Amino acid sequence: MFENELSLFNEALNIFKNNQLSKGNINAIDSFNDVFKDVNTIHKVENNYIYVIVKDTLTKFKIDKFYSISLNDCIKSLSNGAYGLKFITLEDAKKENISLPISQEKEKIDPERSKRLLRPEFTFENFVVGESNRFAYTEARQVANSPHASFNPLYIMGEVGLGKTHLMQAIGHYVLDNNIKANVVYTSSNQFTDDYFRATATKNADDIIKLSQFYEDADLLLVDDIQFLENKEKTQEFFFKCFDYLHEHNKQIVVTADRPASDLKIMARLKSRFSWGEVVQLGVPDITLRVNILKRKLSFLIDNPNVVPEEVLERIASLYKNNVRELEGALRTYVNYCIAFSSDFIVDNIQKALGAHLPKDSSSLKNNDVNAIKDVICTYFRITEKDLISDSRKSYLVYARNLAFYLMREDLGLQLKEIGNIFGNRDHSTILHGYDKIKELLENDSNVVSDIDYIRKKFKESLAVSE
Ligand code: ADP
Ligand code: MG
Repeated sequence: MFENELSLFNEALNIFKNNQLSKGNINAIDSFNDVFKDVNTIHKVENNYIYVIVKDTLTKFKIDKFYSISLNDCIKSLSNGAYGLKFITLEDAKKENISLPISQEKEKIDPERSKRLLRPEFTFENFVVGESNRFAYTEARQVANSPHASFNPLYIMGEVGLGKTHLMQAIGHYVLDNNIKANVVYTSSNQFTDDYFRATATKNADDIIKLSQFYEDADLLLVDDIQFLENKEKTQEFFFKCFDYLHEHNKQIVVTADRPASDLKIMARLKSRFSWGEVVQLGVPDITLRVNILKRKLSFLIDNPNVVPEEVLERIASLYKNNVRELEGALRTYVNYCIAFSSDFIVDNIQKALGAHLPKDSSSLKNNDVNAIKDVICTYFRITEKDLISDSRKSYLVYARNLAFYLMREDLGLQLKEIGNIFGNRDHSTILHGYDKIKELLENDSNVVSDIDYIRKKFKESLAVSE
């Protein structure tokens, strides 16, 4: 098969070598022979291209970089323009022949490795469904059921502690449960960035190729918290390449973020990729869902969950509204407290166990916090509350306002929408913008760090006085 094409190819190799010889480039011929020593199989001829098989990505990379253009010129002139050349790795060639969505041939991959990257309890079975997460859950299940055939990528969005990582990893578990050989790669975008920098720091092209290979080998790539790719152009570029490779090869990608892609400070090309698939949002759970989540979590903490009265769960659920991680943490603290003091699981212990960590019970106390932050900031900047809330763009007012957004989100755990309401119904993206501005300044500007420290100190003092 393809004898003619193969001899054309061999002829092109010879012409290239003779050219080098005539220039006296003996070293170049050695490297050339080394790269091409086992390259002698044609995979297919398609659209006037001869596809030649190479053993791995590294070889393909070298050929594409150093030889492809010259060899293409040779083939074109030998065939009077009838043929061009392309190189394909053995693995990709096999995949094309098998053309299965998830590669069955993964003998290289340790099946346990993928499992180890996932938290064992983050499964669909342990994900409690309610109004605020039903759609996200359904779509995630669909992606898990038929990777790459549903939505690619799946973009899971939600504020901190609402179950993004859990839902994303559940997809990973499900895919693995159905095909232990599937290569599921889970990474946070911080880890992704670190890996990328480590690979580039060595200045050895092989390291970056190996890293690309690691990601490109994935059948399912899960990248958590992609907002941390913001302002990291090189990492974004690398991620973009991995993304495109996987997408082109029908591999599923799932990402999570705390905001819509349109609000991320990332390159436009990536933003557009994220809009190719499906965007789902995890909302704030209502009281019913919070109680149900607590029931589920309780079954992990104690053997007989029924000993904890519903009343206790309702009460804890009523205290923690915006963040399931905190809700879960509170339950754990409460249970540990009762066990440590050999006490019954009674409502009275909630206050004792959670003490200082207790969020203020009613929204009125939350209002106190909001007012306290506003007061401290106004005193600090010598401005009125009207100034703070106003639309004025005077720089010191914008700064004071942004600090308030930041502290209300970070320290009070308020949602962007809630903060928007406090500040005259501003849009959530305005709040996010201000919040980000402070976050960015905190990294480079020690004045901002000391402003925040001071305001926090005064804020705590004001709470102590009012208690
Ligand atoms: P995020 O990644 O959005 O910050 P996580 O996925 O880490 O949040 O979730 C925080 C904690 O809350 C985890 O322990 C997770 O199991 C739990 N959690 C969140 N939502 C649910 C849910 N619907 N059912 C069960 N547990 C949940
Ligand atoms: Mg997370």
